[in-house]
Amino acid sequence: MIAPDWFREDRLPHIYCAGCGNGTVINCTLAAVEEMGWKRNETVFVSGIGCSSRAPGYILADSLHTTHGRALAFATGVKLARPDLNVVVFTGDGDLAAIGGNHFIHACRRNMDMTVICMNNQIYGMTGGQGSPTTPQGAFSTTTPYGSSEPAFDLAELAVAAGANYVARWTSYHVKELTKAITTGMQTPGFAFIEVRTQCPTNFGRHNKLRQIPDMIEYLRGHAMHVKKYDRLLEEGKPIPEGTFTVGELARRNRPAMGVRR
Ligand code: SF4
Repeated sequence: MIAPDWFREDRLPHIYCAGCGNGTVINCTLAAVEEMGWKRNETVFVSGIGCSSRAPGYILADSLHTTHGRALAFATGVKLARPDLNVVVFTGDGDLAAIGGNHFIHACRRNMDMTVICMNNQIYGMTGGQGSPTTPQGAFSTTTPYGSSEPAFDLAELAVAAGANYVARWTSYHVKELTKAITTGMQTPGFAFIEVRTQCPTNFGRHNKLRQIPDMIEYLRGHAMHVKKYDRLLEEGKPIPEGTFTVGELARRNRPAMGVRR
């Protein structure tokens, strides 16, 4: 196991379904924390509500499991009161982009010094599979039984546009790349946003003919395209397959940030 000093074995068995991608994201995050050499008494994990937001419960450090959509508001308070602390936020697509959407864009705009990891499973997992702001157009959920008619939010592009200093996107298949991206986000002063497309076989897969766990992982891997290749295809006017999303580093810049340790 990676980072045994940070993982709360006493909380096992965990609540996640078999094949859920969230455990991989926790593992990558703790590997990054170890790489950073952070101390437990200087690090706080904050989350909202949802499957992703149960993650801090498995980590041996102070944490806040807050109200739905408000993780970034609580994390902002922690950072402003104690800029000396390392703040990591776990959130999901429903938590971050629906009820928490306003907090998201304003935390990016303020460029709050924190690392935000969004486990984007493209559905409300914990409450039974309702469509979220990132459910792909045409995808099935309990609230879109004929296929979603709405376009989905691109969370990483939203963070780039709103001003975050560091933005990257990977999937739960890309373990090494994801760990590196989280580490780079932690090293970058200001708002670091890492979107992780994760598999939810129970609620996304079940409704979209991807019930088997390898099918879901292959679905993520098969639709991911490195941003450099994507840009090259665009430049050359070549077709980009439907459902493709970019992975890689989407922004790294040095805008003035709030809550940075002095
Ligand atoms: Fe994971 Fe989906 Fe199960 Fe939630 S419902 S624990 S996201 S597989």
